[in-house]
Amino acid sequence: MLTDQQRDALLADLADALAGGITPGEEVSAAALRDWSPETAGRPLAHVRPRTTEEVSAILRICNAAGCPVVPQGGMTGLAGGATASDGAVLLSLARLSGVEKLDTDGALMVVGAGTTLDAVQTAAAEAGLFFALDLGARGSCQIGGNISTNAGGNRVLKYGMMRDLVLGLEVVLADGTVLTMMNECPKNNAGPDLKPLFIGSEGTLGVITRAVLKLHPGVARADVALLAVPSFEAALAILRLGQAQSAGAISAFEAMWPEFLRGLAPHMSRPLPLPEDAPLYILIEMQGGALASDDALAEILAAAMEDGLILDAVLATTQRDADDLWRLRDMIAELQRDIEPVVNFDVSVPVARIGEAAERIRSGLAKGFPDKEAIFFGHVGDGNLHVVAGPVTPGGSDEREIERCVYEIVRTLSGSISAEHGIGMHKLRWLPYSRTPQELALLRQLKRSMDPKGILNPGKVIEIAGAD
Ligand code: FAD
Ligand code: ZN
Repeated sequence: MLTDQQRDALLADLADALAGGITPGEEVSAAALRDWSPETAGRPLAHVRPRTTEEVSAILRICNAAGCPVVPQGGMTGLAGGATASDGAVLLSLARLSGVEKLDTDGALMVVGAGTTLDAVQTAAAEAGLFFALDLGARGSCQIGGNISTNAGGNRVLKYGMMRDLVLGLEVVLADGTVLTMMNECPKNNAGPDLKPLFIGSEGTLGVITRAVLKLHPGVARADVALLAVPSFEAALAILRLGQAQSAGAISAFEAMWPEFLRGLAPHMSRPLPLPEDAPLYILIEMQGGALASDDALAEILAAAMEDGLILDAVLATTQRDADDLWRLRDMIAELQRDIEPVVNFDVSVPVARIGEAAERIRSGLAKGFPDKEAIFFGHVGDGNLHVVAGPVTPGGSDEREIERCVYEIVRTLSGSISAEHGIGMHKLRWLPYSRTPQELALLRQLKRSMDPKGILNPGKVIEIAGAD
């Protein structure tokens, strides 16, 4: 803990280094205190909004010298409490380091500031006739730096991989203020081990990302979308196999929604749902193609699947507006969540073939142990990623803890991971040993100690490991 005198000196040094862009702790707005998770925020020392990498470096140098914790903050849409304020910390917003610095159509890459929103990156790529493949519901607010720090996944991992696969270069500021420039633009670079992956998915615990070189893909001339009602999870997997084989891997999204999801949507809709609500499983399928793609490629795949008895009912979008409407249904999870708040949010992963079994086992485990709770199931089937939202719970209460234990025990027996995409933050810290071995955890701690010896970067998140009880 800093003395009052040290605190005042630190704030004065930060104010000098920043020329504006500093708000004292007691005046920090509620929006800067918490991400989307229900974790309780601490009382921060200050909120700082640097404009340049040099300012970020100065902030970290000053905070490191004083031993003051720093919480890097992107768009605050995280679901694991990674960006939530901790007591006495300096909240470091990257929002002002935003904008596209360069777009290279020959190299199919883009150089951006860490604070650029995902939406802005997608739009800039599309305007240049290219495609930035990461996509998720929080696209309007989340930032590239946050996407990289959480190694975000989202809707199109099936075809393009996770954020890790879309990063060519990074600029990172280390805990002591050292600027690490790794702004690689070459697709191939084997000049020794790559350091960038250390920062991708480390949720602000090993360094602060200030700029990035992003990989772009060819523009998408058409994307065909359909919503399917299917008789079983096995049928869904068979449709995915068939679609991938017949389209040479052009299926770009294959999103599952279990019946609770569709039933929950009904009260939020101004018109009837496009399919009856009583099917065992629903799939949103998207197939992307270039200018030569045939008009009815997806229709042909679905017709073959229907003939094989794999589809009960289907709506194929015929206009872009229809396609957007179908995607909007999948994106309405935020509304569904609000209906059963406060919730506990899961983003577990299990081997692809066992997703259906995982959903069934978790549903019956929750129904048996917590009959008064509601649960919604959906997920990115092709990636082995199942989302479960359960509520209402008391945030931080014993019911939340016991629901987590129930879900994570099932995931552990299925050889899965406690986080497929949202990360660990503070929310899943206690459960990390369910997915990582003691040897891995020891190495992670060693790495953290060597890169951030005073432990100022995002303390209490991810790497400071408490054992599961
Ligand atoms: P924040 O929440 O601000 O921060 C997240 C973590 O990264 C924190 O630990 C923070 O300290 C760290 N951080 C942020 N910026 C930096 C930086 N520049 N340098 C170092 N560390 C930094 N996630 C998915 O993966 N897939 C989804 O499909 C998905 N859907 C979502 C839908 C909704 C409606 C919402 C609200 C969230 C969803 N998320 C999803 C979660 C969230 O949007 C992602 O985790 C996103 O990548 C977080 O970005 P952010 O800028 O908001 O980061
Ligand atoms: Zn997801």
